[in-house]
Amino acid sequence: MNYDIIIIGGGIFGVTTAVSLQQRGWRTAVLDPGPLPHPLAASTDISKVVRMEYGTDAQYMEMVEASLGGWRQWNERFGPLFHEIGVTMFTQQPMAPGGFEYESYQMLLKRGHHPERLNGDEISRRFPAWKPGAFVDGFYHAQGGYVESGRVVEALITQAQQSGVAILAGQTAVEIAQQGGRVTAVRTQEGDTFPTNHALVAAGTWTHLLLPELAPVMKSTGHPVFHLKPAQPELFTAPNFIVFTADVARTGWYGFPLHPREGVVKIANHGIGLRLHPRDDERVVTAQDEQNFRAFLAATFPALADAPIVYTRRCLYCDTLDEHFWIDRHPETTGLTVAAGGSGHGFKFAPVLGDLIADAVEGKVNPWLPKFRWRNLAAQTTGEEASRHHS
Ligand SMILES: Cc1cc2nc3c(=O)[nH]c(=O)nc-3n(C[C@H](O)[C@H](O)[C@H](O)COP(=O)(O)OP(=O)(O)OC[C@H]3O[C@@H](n4cnc5c(N)ncnc54)[C@H](O)[C@@H]3O)c2cc1C
Repeated sequence: MNYDIIIIGGGIFGVTTAVSLQQRGWRTAVLDPGPLPHPLAASTDISKVVRMEYGTDAQYMEMVEASLGGWRQWNERFGPLFHEIGVTMFTQQPMAPGGFEYESYQMLLKRGHHPERLNGDEISRRFPAWKPGAFVDGFYHAQGGYVESGRVVEALITQAQQSGVAILAGQTAVEIAQQGGRVTAVRTQEGDTFPTNHALVAAGTWTHLLLPELAPVMKSTGHPVFHLKPAQPELFTAPNFIVFTADVARTGWYGFPLHPREGVVKIANHGIGLRLHPRDDERVVTAQDEQNFRAFLAATFPALADAPIVYTRRCLYCDTLDEHFWIDRHPETTGLTVAAGGSGHGFKFAPVLGDLIADAVEGKVNPWLPKFRWRNLAAQTTGEEASRHHS
């Protein structure tokens, strides 16, 4: 069977695109070592934050505005995987110009949204798990929440298969063959060759292994994730406790309420992370990570300070140097497109990702694509994602 396009990678970037391209009439196959959703994929998790807040960056907010309708529709189709419980973004000092929370708050107002600003007393009254007086400013925004990402990928894989996409788990791409500057086939570690004129590399944090020319602008960074069993579950259940960022650009810490299925409170750090090799390095949370975490809990959520950690995970970002996605056709090889660089914030855009990436494959104009174009990034380029803790 010849496919019009081979998609390398069955994470959220790959699967959403498979659905869109199949709907546009492309005979589409997805390769992945599997099983799917792949246990080490960034997309495979119990929860991911859906937030509009991106500081002064209006495009990301606009893209989430467009995604929210899709999440609500997917809830009707796949069941309640998007929990629209809102988000809280609190600061230890009063919000100030230039700060992630302040600029996000201003952008929300400017775009007609209705965040509720809260002071220290209001925070304690409405969200009693927070240590009184530790956080003195910030806001609650009703639009947003979290999605059960692994289940979303599962549901989309089923939808893709039902629409005719060939999901080929157990296949690891090792080479994109080309002739005369044009893609001719994809070869796998398992010894198979898939003739095609189009290949999409959506291999997440493994992308630069397949395309080493991207290694100078894309790196794998590992981030600690903790799952706790609270002694007082009601204190950490919505609406008493919802998706939060805790002065995130200064600390990196963010988290979720008690998970309705997994029965744990998940808290993670959106910092610079640990540089790792996606295939060869161990993915573990260190004693130092845990010490930092306990210190954060003691200063922020006293009722969790001694809570048992049920399990941890070090999950890998596909980090571009500027932290913007990489979605574009290859400048020299015809038929080759790359969609990667989620940089720790790509999942929330899933409802719009498929068409965005399909437009890139087809060379169509899309107002959101220039931000993600194939670009030269100097080695000293710094990250621009406003909520990221960079020190
Ligand atoms: C700890 C953590 C927390 C995050 N939190 C959030 C959040 O709260 N909100 C949010 O919006 N985003 C968040 N993200 C980011 C988000 O998860 C990613 O941007 C997104 O999931 C990336 O999807 P992907 O499809 O590019 O990669 P992945 O999901 O990693 O999928 C890549 C796939 O490619 C496959 N693959 C790799 N190499 C090959 C090969 N050679 N051949 C075939 N297949 C291959 C892999 O098996 C895998 O299935 C977070 C990420 C991490 C790591």
